[in-house]
Amino acid sequence: MNGWTIKKDNVKKLCIEASEQWETYVPLEDIGRDTHFIKLDGENRELLLDKLNLDYESLVVPPKVIVFPQLESLFRFQDEKIIETVKPKVPRLLFGLRACDVKAILFMDDFFKRNFEDIYYLNRSMDKLLVIVGCKHPSENCFCTSTKTGPFLETGFDLQLADIGNKYVVEIGSEKGEEFVSSYRKFFDEASKDDIECSKIAKHDAEEAVSLRLDFEEAVKKFCEDKVPKRMYERIAERCIYCGGCIYVCPTCSCFNVFDDLKAGSGGRYRNWDACVFEGYTREASGHNPRSEKWILTSRRYEHKLKYDYLTTGMSGCVGCGRCLSSCPVNIGISQVIEEVTKE
Ligand code: SF4
Ligand code: SF4
Repeated sequence: MNGWTIKKDNVKKLCIEASEQWETYVPLEDIGRDTHFIKLDGENRELLLDKLNLDYESLVVPPKVIVFPQLESLFRFQDEKIIETVKPKVPRLLFGLRACDVKAILFMDDFFKRNFEDIYYLNRSMDKLLVIVGCKHPSENCFCTSTKTGPFLETGFDLQLADIGNKYVVEIGSEKGEEFVSSYRKFFDEASKDDIECSKIAKHDAEEAVSLRLDFEEAVKKFCEDKVPKRMYERIAERCIYCGGCIYVCPTCSCFNVFDDLKAGSGGRYRNWDACVFEGYTREASGHNPRSEKWILTSRRYEHKLKYDYLTTGMSGCVGCGRCLSSCPVNIGISQVIEEVTKE
């Protein structure tokens, strides 16, 4: 047998049935026609799925918000009493992810368990099923073929779907993916040789559609060898307005701040996303800031992604999604940094 296919008409039915067992997230067209991953629950699931959009170009907000929300409670307290707010583990189905975002979630999984097991993150992330729908419409800022993180993956997914017209060819990437297909077997059909041939063509076309090509390996090498000139950071620092947009949309940025909200003997401890480009990010209690110069703030971001992440994990913290450039009000993106460094 060659594998499986699923008719497009069956995708919604599958998601509805799966949402009985799994906390299910799917990309839905939302306000302003932006697409977001939204949880399928309640009586109106069918109505919600009318907005299912598996053909989106790129999500503004990365699906990392499902496992690492922008603001979350760590615990609450009332006088001397601590009230735990750790969410219980539930099986989660993320259906319709892009390959780059799957790579990013795997990167985040590693980060949140590498030196310390972060139970808040891990309870959300460890029991999940990742279903890729291969990208057909990359944005002009995407460069996943250069970072080798898309538009399709070789490993890392549970299921990977390639669009071949009125159906998807389904590739199984894990035992969990195989069990999922067996559990919902009625929605899947056996793939023919023609289907498999069509999926190969779809994958090839998807690769060709990514127009921005960069010498990513060379850039990482230059960063690791400290061959990036200070003047490049200074030029970026002159333009950057330090809004943090590029960091908030980045699917691999994991920095957070922790703060207490106190109200007369009760309150809570929370964490929220932070950004290394904010002036207060490294300010110490004394008021001293070891990164007070703007160009140093700038260098920190790019060195983290293209040097330290790579040296620590063997994988760069950039998955080539292009969101940083798409969201920057002054048109700065990591792709331009890579281009400039490799031209030097
Ligand atoms: S640095 Fe930019 S291109 Fe790279 S993963 Fe983050 S947002 Fe995407
Ligand atoms: S989005 Fe642009 S302006 Fe804002 S912090 Fe990032 S690089 Fe600077």
